[in-house]
Amino acid sequence: MFVDKVRITVIGGRGGDGAVAFHREKYVNAGGPDGGDGGHGGSVILKVNDNMSTLLDFRYKRKYQAQAGVNGMGRKMAGKRGEPLIIEVPRGTVVRDAETNRVIVDMSTDEDFVIAKGGRGGWGNAHYATPTRQVPRFAKAGLKGRERDVILELKLLADVGLVGFPNVGKSTLLSVTSNARPKIANYHFTTLFPNLGVIYVDEGVSFVMADIPGIIEGAAEGAGLGHDFLRHIDRCRLLVHVVDVSGSEGRDPVEDFNAICDELGSYSATLGDRPMIVAANKVDLLPPDSDNLRRLRTVVEAAGCELYEISAGTTQGTKNLMRVVAQKLSTLPPVTIYEPEYVEPEAQPGDPQAVEIEHYGSTWLITGQWLERMVQNINFDDYESRNYFDQMLRKSGLFARLEEMGIQDGDTVDIYDLEFEYQR
Ligand code: GDP
Ligand code: MG
Repeated sequence: MFVDKVRITVIGGRGGDGAVAFHREKYVNAGGPDGGDGGHGGSVILKVNDNMSTLLDFRYKRKYQAQAGVNGMGRKMAGKRGEPLIIEVPRGTVVRDAETNRVIVDMSTDEDFVIAKGGRGGWGNAHYATPTRQVPRFAKAGLKGRERDVILELKLLADVGLVGFPNVGKSTLLSVTSNARPKIANYHFTTLFPNLGVIYVDEGVSFVMADIPGIIEGAAEGAGLGHDFLRHIDRCRLLVHVVDVSGSEGRDPVEDFNAICDELGSYSATLGDRPMIVAANKVDLLPPDSDNLRRLRTVVEAAGCELYEISAGTTQGTKNLMRVVAQKLSTLPPVTIYEPEYVEPEAQPGDPQAVEIEHYGSTWLITGQWLERMVQNINFDDYESRNYFDQMLRKSGLFARLEEMGIQDGDTVDIYDLEFEYQR
């Protein structure tokens, strides 16, 4: 079974809750608040593993959740962070957001990627102690981790893609030119897994060639095996189109060539326009009186491609073909890496609904993504900046909401590291 597309759910670990605790010691009466912070939840992280070549591991497990952070404890002890959950994927896995189908990340480099961040741990009450509020009896709950559905899609990283009807000799060509040992057999659809081979042409000159399961006519319309497999050559810089020029299977090489070209074009315009070299294979079987080669050459050259005669079976012309391929590759742009298209939905600054308000007596705790960012970026020693912050809060409708909830003059407002006295 070859699996190259799956949908999974990834969930960051929940943050631990902050603790409400007070220092206790013999002979000391009223100890101060010493509730520690909750630990952050673990994140779900994607990592490339070069020993994997399919997404089979994801077939039976669909949900991936990282560990939660531990709650804070007394004596200012912070809870332990949740362990991250590492998900290994084969190189070339393109990750899309399931809802928008936009590319989130292309796992083609060695860089790990945080796909679902763990939730923040809540602050313990020790954090909220101030000279005027010595006995805070509250702490923040931990936040939920990010949860999202993503689609993993494997698109092989190969310079060259072999295309052609089944049984024309693609696997044989790969096996005689590279280190790969694909299955070769005299029946259709032998290749069920894409095979990758590295071809060493000269010192320092090498490339990767992929043999994908045979495309058959109508595959792009979903008529049979092949359509799905075309995604594996999406990234290829060059296609080597293998044609059985001997007609040993009773098919016509010109018809085969045209059919495959149509197939590529109907899968995608960019694949239809991909640079292509034609390998007229099985010349060792070519009947002496056959005009197949001449007819094929005419059509291929009219299509603007070069044709090379080979016999993968006897390796006649295969070395030369690989040299030509390497030469052609040196003139082409590198393998496609998909750019991220997904944009994180972000609460707009000023969206009062994106702000959470809790209150404990006369203390009001306010949290929210844009607020957190703003507090971090504003210099509160500077009058202008402070003024700007005040304006933003007023405009956001936050104060109106606080008043609706019953805030009084002189109450304390806590926004992350910032604390002030409320005045109408
Ligand atoms: P694929 O389906 O395109 O991968 O084709 P294979 O590489 O599996 O080859 C199909 C059959 O054709 C096998 O029996 C091969 O031995 C045979 N074959 C491949 N290339 C040649 C060739 O150049 N000459 C001869 N005589 N047979 C070949
Ligand atoms: Mg094959």
